Amino acid sequence: RTLLGIESSCDDTAAAVVRVADGEAEVLSSIVDSQTDLHAEFGGVVPELAARAHAEKLDLCVEAALAEAGLGLSDLDGIAVTAGPGLIGGVISGVMCARGIAAGAGLPLIPVNHLAGHALTPRLTDDLTFPYLMLLVSGGHCQFLLVSGPQEFKRLGGTIDDAPGEAFDKTARLLGLPQPGGPVVEGRAKSGDPKRFRFPRPLLDRPGCDMSFSGLKTAVLRARDALVADQGGLYEIDRDDLCAGFQAAVADVLAEKSRRALAEYMALNPAQPMIAVAGGVAANTAIREALQSVAAEAGAGFTAPPLRLCTDNAAMIAWAGIELLNAQVPPTDDFSARPRWPLDQTSPALLGSGK
Ligand code: ATP
Ligand code: FE
Repeated sequence: RTLLGIESSCDDTAAAVVRVADGEAEVLSSIVDSQTDLHAEFGGVVPELAARAHAEKLDLCVEAALAEAGLGLSDLDGIAVTAGPGLIGGVISGVMCARGIAAGAGLPLIPVNHLAGHALTPRLTDDLTFPYLMLLVSGGHCQFLLVSGPQEFKRLGGTIDDAPGEAFDKTARLLGLPQPGGPVVEGRAKSGDPKRFRFPRPLLDRPGCDMSFSGLKTAVLRARDALVADQGGLYEIDRDDLCAGFQAAVADVLAEKSRRALAEYMALNPAQPMIAVAGGVAANTAIREALQSVAAEAGAGFTAPPLRLCTDNAAMIAWAGIELLNAQVPPTDDFSARPRWPLDQTSPALLGSGK
């Protein structure tokens, strides 16, 4: 099976071709055109600008993905497209692009939940069977999921306010660093002292695996303001130390809550002790290492996709499409773009344009 994937739910326009032959999955191409520069001067993604840029770039991305794979439309078995959740203008642009190509080339269309794309990616890059525990940690989400199939997700807990990716981005902004904040803060943290600032680790005293990250950015803000009041500004070493302290707090919370989620999960699935992580924040090496130790301590396996498949891409969408086809989920063009689409409601019944 060979699928084209299309992704445009946030600020990356992406197209990819994924093929599965003899049980082996291969990413034949993965084009990601990021709009970072476009939104830079606004300090955040501007939905209208994003939608227009997606509409302009989608066709080029699709052409590039096919060219890099060395394939034409007639070599494809279908098109998988992100149908939500995300910025609605961007999702609509992607769905329109996919519909057009599918109709013109007579190809089946497979609507994919962006979050399912993230959560299924570890199966594209590793030998991972259902069920497994997933920590999905990205720009807009942070949740523990019991993944039992391409459409079977049970939420075990998650953030009660901000997502960690958002907190990384806000921290970068507070320190006058560029976007996206994740990789920049990670880079700064490498030369910083994680112990100079002791930021809060909320909810650790509470049972369960819910998390909170909104207090963390307030703490970074206060620490910054105290330094500015004290010394008239920030030195580079201050930025490094603030980043290191912030990242250590996020990693500690994710690790401790993963420990609990894993215990809960392993009590239910002792035969398959496995935790996987995905989403943009899973590209963070310190966080990956913290989770790997948690898994090792618990006697569980750990897997994480390569960095370029953690942040938004279309290979994960093509792969999720293949997973759905393999699970006998019928292709359909009877669906609408959705701004909200919780993962535990991915069943196709909810997809009909009848709302
Ligand atoms: P969602 O998937 O929840 O809808 P999204 O698609 O916007 O949100 P992703 O592309 O999955 O988010 O992830 C982007 C987020 O990941 C950004 O907030 C970014 O700062 C963060 N991120 C990327 N690389 C790293 C890193 N190395 N360390 C920490 N965070 C990172
Ligand atoms: Fe994402």
